[in-house]
Amino acid sequence: MLPFLRSDLAQLVSYTPHPGGADGSSSPGVPVPSEAIDRLDTNESPYDLPEDLKQKLAWVYQHELEANRYPDGGHEALKAAIAHYANRSASLEADWVTPHHISVSSGSDELIRSLLIATCLRSEGSVLVADPTFSMYGITASTLGVPVVRVGRDEHTFETDLTAAAQAIATPVAGQPAIRVVFMVHPNSPTGNALTAAELAWLRGLPPHILVVIDEAYFEFSQQTVLPELRQRPNWVILRTFSKAFRLASHRVGYAIAHPELAATLEKIRLPYNLPSLSQRAAELALAHQDTLLAAIPTLLAERDRLFQSLTPLPGITVWPSAANFLFLRLLNDPSDSNLEAMFQNLKSSGTLIRKTCGGLRITIGTPAENQRTIERLSECLRD
Ligand SMILES: *Cc1c(COP(=O)(O)O)cnc(C)c1O
Repeated sequence: MLPFLRSDLAQLVSYTPHPGGADGSSSPGVPVPSEAIDRLDTNESPYDLPEDLKQKLAWVYQHELEANRYPDGGHEALKAAIAHYANRSASLEADWVTPHHISVSSGSDELIRSLLIATCLRSEGSVLVADPTFSMYGITASTLGVPVVRVGRDEHTFETDLTAAAQAIATPVAGQPAIRVVFMVHPNSPTGNALTAAELAWLRGLPPHILVVIDEAYFEFSQQTVLPELRQRPNWVILRTFSKAFRLASHRVGYAIAHPELAATLEKIRLPYNLPSLSQRAAELALAHQDTLLAAIPTLLAERDRLFQSLTPLPGITVWPSAANFLFLRLLNDPSDSNLEAMFQNLKSSGTLIRKTCGGLRITIGTPAENQRTIERLSECLRD
């Protein structure tokens, strides 16, 4: 290891979203066939931006943007459009959420890091996560030297073990700072369950010196949001993204909705020009055409339900219901994980790339044709 590197970084592994290579990266295992692959491993929309919107964006790039100039570093137009959308989508009054409640970032991943910098750095706090959950919270905390406390979830419902969570908050680990941030995904990834009434009640009861991060990356699919109670709770922040339902994963746009003082702090922490001009314009365009883009959601939800109905009767697996655009399944009687790995590789070699994570498989809902292939290929695996 190079002698100037922080020793604790040696154990970290970098995040590889497409292990096995849809993006050309290499990893051991069966190679992905070079013909069309069903990329159902990162929960994007299967639908690209419609042709006419791409043309509009190309026109913006050609005629309105100056490539030699820095982007709008304050994201003013985009923040106003996001505030409008947030209010409308939660049936709130027009200026309930204002641009002062918003901070925009290069993907919501950037916001996770900014939130940790704003709260836990300099040994001021630890974070709490409930596994299985989105891995970036733990990974990002580790890169900053912020300790991560992990509690479990119910094996059948994936509800957070609230007794363990309360215990973790009441009794800090020896030698570590107390918990200052709790991360929750609503609905959770990879398991697809939305926060329950009990989980929400527990979060509402947390003291004001603990920040509650509610990651609503899948809000457009679940239609469940805690936004209407945000103004009562200055210690809550909502994270959203344009990477999923809004079909803009390539543009890397995420945002936080928070108390104005927290939003202003996130603005202080972020890099000055964190979002390229074209990405800002793409997000504005997506919001201006939200009805068109979000019109794909009922189909995706119906496809999710069809996949669920088709996979549930298959022998040897448990599939969980989901409030998002993906399904999670586990194999019965596979203590060493070897059947799961075989199934993952088998699907990959037949052209369906999904995510193997947290002792199960997470399958993104794709186009109807992709989902049909998923059903056929999974049935084939389970017949062997
Ligand atoms: C996909 C996803 C995000 C989005 O991340 P971006 O950096 O905005 O692309 C955030 N949180 C969760 C739980 C996700 O699954």
